[in-house]
Amino acid sequence: MDPKTRCITVVGAGMAGAAVAASLAQRGWQVQVLEAAPALGAGASGLPVGLAAPHVSPDDNVLSRITRAGVQATLERAHMLTQAGSLNAQDWGLTGVLEHRIKGKRELPTGKAVPHEQDRWSQRASVAQVAAAGLPPNSPALWHSQAAWLRPRRLVAAQLATPGVTLRLGCAVQRITQSHEVLDKGWSLWDAQGVLLNHTPELVLASAFDTAALLQGLVDTEYGALKFPLHPLRGQISFGRVDALPALTRERLPPFPVNGHGSFISGVAAPGHEADHWFIGSTFERDCTQAPVRSEDHAANQTRLNTLLPPLAEGMASGFAPDQIQGWAGLRCTLPDRLPAVGLIEPVRWPGLHLCTGMGARGISLSVLCGEIIAASLEGQAHPLAPELAKHLAAQRFFKTPKSSLSPRCQV
Ligand SMILES: Cc1cc2nc3c(=O)[nH]c(=O)nc-3n(C[C@H](O)[C@H](O)[C@H](O)COP(=O)(O)OP(=O)(O)OC[C@H]3O[C@@H](n4cnc5c(N)ncnc54)[C@H](O)[C@@H]3O)c2cc1C
Repeated sequence: MDPKTRCITVVGAGMAGAAVAASLAQRGWQVQVLEAAPALGAGASGLPVGLAAPHVSPDDNVLSRITRAGVQATLERAHMLTQAGSLNAQDWGLTGVLEHRIKGKRELPTGKAVPHEQDRWSQRASVAQVAAAGLPPNSPALWHSQAAWLRPRRLVAAQLATPGVTLRLGCAVQRITQSHEVLDKGWSLWDAQGVLLNHTPELVLASAFDTAALLQGLVDTEYGALKFPLHPLRGQISFGRVDALPALTRERLPPFPVNGHGSFISGVAAPGHEADHWFIGSTFERDCTQAPVRSEDHAANQTRLNTLLPPLAEGMASGFAPDQIQGWAGLRCTLPDRLPAVGLIEPVRWPGLHLCTGMGARGISLSVLCGEIIAASLEGQAHPLAPELAKHLAAQRFFKTPKSSLSPRCQV
């Protein structure tokens, strides 16, 4: 593409928008990021801390393979941003993660499907790792060596600091319109007062739930209003100060995150604090569009912790006292097949309009990969995923090309 035309606008400065912006800016694009909120972390990416960890399944299914590619992309970016001085040891840690298999939860591989000793990603957890987690000997567990805890807001800020990215905070996009003028093809973005915010040849909607509303405004005689099936999945994480726990409990905290029934992370600073905190999450609640912090969700997280790490239950109880416990809640934005929607929605009727959303419960693991997919496609580079995996992320799976815009030979 002509360097003069390598300009793009991204709506939304969460993990999805920041990842696309960084992937494109690294390739020489000028990227404008428009964010409705006055500060970063307004949406789900305001999560205090989360995990980038592989998904393991008995048949190494599509989700497992996509998640490994995603975690790899996230870790590579975190390493790169650390080398550049934009992230540091307080922002993320490649500690590895122990997955405790809880009876009745998702099955881990058995028989031949058990990860091999030499598997770079996951192995059966060693006696020492199980002991370090404080679990009884012979507890069924896997060890994911390529897995990290990460503070999403810090990753967002670091990616948006990439040269070539311009961030405009407090810039809510109310409506998008398409221009067909020969000299001015592209997309116009408008605010609630009808003021033009930007005009751009290429547009990425990374605006979580608002993506559906912005698409719905694009009425077409053949498509009708564009419907995009995003759903909210509310979640709450509970956390507290490590130094407020009893001394014996502090000594028993696992030196790495443990997941398998929610996840437990300790020794990480909470937003706005210097001190080390512990975190247990998260709740899952469908069809709830509000995200206030609730005491019943702290209780649910305490039960979750007691199941995940029973030996910690008693010692952690004081941390859940009303004057100790803190919380953060947000809305995960999911699609029916639980995978993101990435790339052009339909290149014939809506050229230049890309999506990067529907990260669900895996934005840390998948957003950088999604950013790389969009950047590679705009640069004409090879898709980062094999075709049999790539099709599962393509935004086009939700938007069928109308028959009339296909050539006669293609019509079915
Ligand atoms: C409790 C909880 C725990 C989680 N734990 C993990 C975990 O351990 N690992 C993991 O990988 N993921 C986890 N997730 C999921 C992860 O947080 C999300 O997948 C991710 O943050 C989604 O990023 P996003 O950029 O798509 O959305 P968001 O972060 O919501 O960003 C969207 C942005 O777009 C902006 N915006 C919206 N509309 C407009 C508009 N019209 N104009 C301009 N800007 C607009 C919003 O203000 C917002 O900043 C968790 C989520 C929750 C709620």
